[in-house]
Amino acid sequence: MPKQKSAIEDSQALIEWYRGVKRDLPWRKNRDPYRIWVSEVMLQQTTVAAVIPFYERFMKRFPTLKSLAEAPTEDVIENWAGLGYYSRARNLHKSAQVLHSRGFPKTFAEFIELPGFGPYTARAVASLAFDEKTGVLDGNVIRVLSRRYGLKLEWWKPQGRNQLQQLADALAQVDQPADLNQGLMELGATVCTPQSPTCLLCPWAKVCVARHLHAIPEYPLKKPRRDREVWHWRPVVVEHDGSVLLVPNDYAPFLKGHWILPGEAEILSAPPSNFDYKGTVTHHDIFVSIGRSRRKPKAGEMKWVPMDRLSREIPASMIRKAIEKSRVTS
Ligand code: SF4
Repeated sequence: MPKQKSAIEDSQALIEWYRGVKRDLPWRKNRDPYRIWVSEVMLQQTTVAAVIPFYERFMKRFPTLKSLAEAPTEDVIENWAGLGYYSRARNLHKSAQVLHSRGFPKTFAEFIELPGFGPYTARAVASLAFDEKTGVLDGNVIRVLSRRYGLKLEWWKPQGRNQLQQLADALAQVDQPADLNQGLMELGATVCTPQSPTCLLCPWAKVCVARHLHAIPEYPLKKPRRDREVWHWRPVVVEHDGSVLLVPNDYAPFLKGHWILPGEAEILSAPPSNFDYKGTVTHHDIFVSIGRSRRKPKAGEMKWVPMDRLSREIPASMIRKAIEKSRVTS
């Protein structure tokens, strides 16, 4: 942990640097918490450059919290198309309805109590929109702090994460925590990049421990890779009157939070010899064997989706592919 004086010096140097280089991004036009919140959710999954066109389209369709809260879910999903991680769009929509009925809170402690706000998003909105003195920790910030202070922490475990959070919080004890946090994120995104950082442009070049030790690639520690898993998924396509039956996914570890085809999934030690096609979701290699039936399950939550609305209502291509292939082979 840096001494208080050095933390203040680091923060001031970073804020000054950030004010000189900050990019003109659509969510920085004002400090509307709704706009900041949506941008932070989108930025969790992809880069700034990739997010901008999706963000602008989304804001055009849902310019206010009210417009998002009152929109049909399919509309939100459709305007999220291309960003992936559709469970985030659903959570965003649910949270918008809660926020619209209760009003936007202002503090981390209040945000974290709401559905759809994890520690990162709660801190980001509280500090960027309301100047709360709390540090924001994402992958970029973890890299920058690990290098600057020469920290080899297991940042994917609670203890390492807590240490980094305390450090980020210490840096945020300034009058402009929003600029400090955005400066950290900006530095990680544009200068202190994973490969070949441009240290000569860095406000911390003279004090950076990893640079001083000529050991930048050693920071931060690399998270151990998760072993891949082989799954055999046997979805059943049930069609009736031009619609297909979906159920909430309560049986497969992949496509969590999605409506999927009824069926079963089993983990295997090796790929099956017979299957229709293969898909991949995170660390799951999924071998798909499609079944067809005219009988719907006897009980449980379910919904029918008309064939001509498949792409609108089922964003996961692996599910659509099962339906399309079942039609070709039937
Ligand atoms: S000096 Fe280089 S390695 Fe150190 S924080 Fe700055 S960009 Fe990153």
